[in-house]
Amino acid sequence: MKELEKKIAVVTGGGSGIGKGIAVRLAEEGAIVIAVGRRKEPLEDLCSEIKANGDCAFYYCADVSKSVEVKELAGFIQNKFNRLDILVNCAGITVKEFVLDLDEDNWDSVIDINLKSVFLCCKYLGRIIIDNAAENSYGKVITISSVGSFLGIPTSSAYCASKGGVTQLTKVIAIEWAENHVNVNSIVPGYIETNLSKGVLKNQEARDKVYSRIPFKKMGNVKDTAEAALFLVSQKSNYITGTTLSVDGGLLATAYT
Ligand code: NAD
Repeated sequence: MKELEKKIAVVTGGGSGIGKGIAVRLAEEGAIVIAVGRRKEPLEDLCSEIKANGDCAFYYCADVSKSVEVKELAGFIQNKFNRLDILVNCAGITVKEFVLDLDEDNWDSVIDINLKSVFLCCKYLGRIIIDNAAENSYGKVITISSVGSFLGIPTSSAYCASKGGVTQLTKVIAIEWAENHVNVNSIVPGYIETNLSKGVLKNQEARDKVYSRIPFKKMGNVKDTAEAALFLVSQKSNYITGTTLSVDGGLLATAYT
């Protein structure tokens, strides 16, 4: 039997990058994946890819920074599946501007999409996860934070603030839900090859600068983060909650010399 056979898993930001990698990997292990994102096309493509592998996936279009849309998502999950085993909070954006130049609207968007969405998804999908965990002693929540949660990255004030919030919020939810048999942990990616990082590292000079700081001297890929996610939703991590798992090629472990 596969590790996640028939488990119901919601992956926000599932249409691309790290979220897509996690969605595909969980489906490979038998989970029924519901990929959530704003745009239909990438989600449809993801579901086709998963189904072509003989695995199972659905998609749901929602802006997870909007309370009303997350409530509707929770209603959809309740009505269609009547349970939820796994929630992966992966939706995220970044805006690169110095504090003095950053529009308030951009600040709000980054905080809402990266941080408030985690609060909303846990608030409105949490009851379904907790009720299911009461019956099955299994419930797993992952947040996707960032090394920017721990490091100050110039031009990324809103991003770093939002991810610092995600890391702290993860700990609080982990403690609050520990008695409900729900594990809540955070993955801390370093630099992973996706559209988001391509947007940030636009030229070779920027890449070389980043590589020089990473002990492994290369970026990670979405498979690296997907394997970490698989571990955190598997039974192998049952005694792990409220912690962060860095997938960063050693970036956070090193001092700048
Ligand atoms: P990505 O742009 O490929 O993925 C982000 C996904 O979130 C997209 O599919 C996008 O459509 C979705 N999304 C954005 N706003 C949304 C909203 N309001 N509602 C629903 N979906 C929304 O980039 P990625 O690199 O795969 O990023 C995924 C997560 O990983 C983000 O939270 C990001 O901050 C984090 N992260 C990425 C890196 C990296 O190097 N790539 C490093 C650290 C953390």
